[in-house]
Amino acid sequence: MYDYFLNQGISKDAYNFVQNCELECRELNKKLDDIVDINQLKVLNAFQEERIASRHFNASSGYGYDDQGRDAYERVFARVFNTEDALVRPQIVSGTHALSLALYGLLKQGDTLLSITGKPYDTLDQVIGVKGNSKHSLIANGVNYKHVDLTEDTQIDMDEVLKHLDSANVVYMQRSRGYEYRNAISIEQIKEAVSTIRKHKSDVIIMIDNCYGEFTDVLEPTDVGVDVAMGSLIKNPGGGLAPTGGYIVGKKEYIEAIADRWSAPGIGKEVGSYAASYTPYYQGLFLAPSVVGNCLKGIRVLSRMFEKFGYDAVPKSNSDQSDIILSVKTGSEKAVIDICKVVQSISPVDNNVVPLPWDMPGYNDKVIMAAGTFIQGSSIELSADAPIKEPYIVYIQGGLTYSHLKIAAMKIYDVLKKSE
Ligand SMILES: *Cc1c(COP(=O)(O)O)cnc(C)c1O
Repeated sequence: MYDYFLNQGISKDAYNFVQNCELECRELNKKLDDIVDINQLKVLNAFQEERIASRHFNASSGYGYDDQGRDAYERVFARVFNTEDALVRPQIVSGTHALSLALYGLLKQGDTLLSITGKPYDTLDQVIGVKGNSKHSLIANGVNYKHVDLTEDTQIDMDEVLKHLDSANVVYMQRSRGYEYRNAISIEQIKEAVSTIRKHKSDVIIMIDNCYGEFTDVLEPTDVGVDVAMGSLIKNPGGGLAPTGGYIVGKKEYIEAIADRWSAPGIGKEVGSYAASYTPYYQGLFLAPSVVGNCLKGIRVLSRMFEKFGYDAVPKSNSDQSDIILSVKTGSEKAVIDICKVVQSISPVDNNVVPLPWDMPGYNDKVIMAAGTFIQGSSIELSADAPIKEPYIVYIQGGLTYSHLKIAAMKIYDVLKKSE
């Protein structure tokens, strides 16, 4: 068996080491199969309840009035996320765009946005207006903004949240870690926060940045009382096949307000054509539970590998996962660059490209990004990135197949061993 791995230049030592990591993760990884099964059933039921047929894959043109494929796809999303309505479009250009649309759709001048999981993801700095000088930021438009940091042990600081809740119109959460060195927020934590918040202020809108969290658990935030959830289709719910796009799911009145912002007031969800086939959107969603499951399993093996190497990494190999990311504190610029180079070099696409640290729009530090992906920038595909700053944390995420992540673990083992 090892001989096949030798072709990829993997040492016998790396092969054995990672095989052992896999054995040690076997029991917990087995449990992930249940999550995959439940989510697969959930998606399958949604397809069947909407009677998805081949006509739904057809392209449309012009205004896109009565685009059946688009409308049915949105209804499938609403079923999967257990919401009244959904806006899921190729024209939502990224996760940031989906988040921005939801914020602008639901906040008016004089309103207050309260983020309760710390400062939101870096690319929202300029949307909110805590960075840059855009005349179009929320703050420049007269929206007030506050955030409450998480506690040291990654809990929502409810005492502090309650102090600010009275003035809030929108409460904002971020499920995944973003560029923080912490675990993702679990569904249990979200459920508890929502119930406390509702007791104190029943009419506040609760929204969540659900990027990277979809299908990591049997429930979604919208199953436990969150009003609106947003994310990217080139992450989990696109299953690696959706070529572009973003989604927003939630209560009907909120989705309508957001759709007016997305297209134009009075037009809302009724328009929007797509000149290519919707097949990859449907097929990607169908595959997504399984892709996410494989990804979680592979990330666990990688986490075990780093642990045995003596690195500090989250999530730990024995903990639950609520997003598809592994953060590793490497302590050296060389290590993060080495790891990113490995990830690039074992990619199915652009494997000969060498990633370098670079200034990226929306990010505060130089960033190195490795992604040899079929879909540009897709991070449900194996990718790694790191802001170049102390303590040199590298974020490894995605992976369309479990085997690919195992190969990554072996290759990373070899490169770390070499620089010891
Ligand atoms: C990916 C991501 C976003 C959005 O990023 P895009 O690159 O614009 O899709 C927002 N929040 C979190 C936590 C993310 O992981």
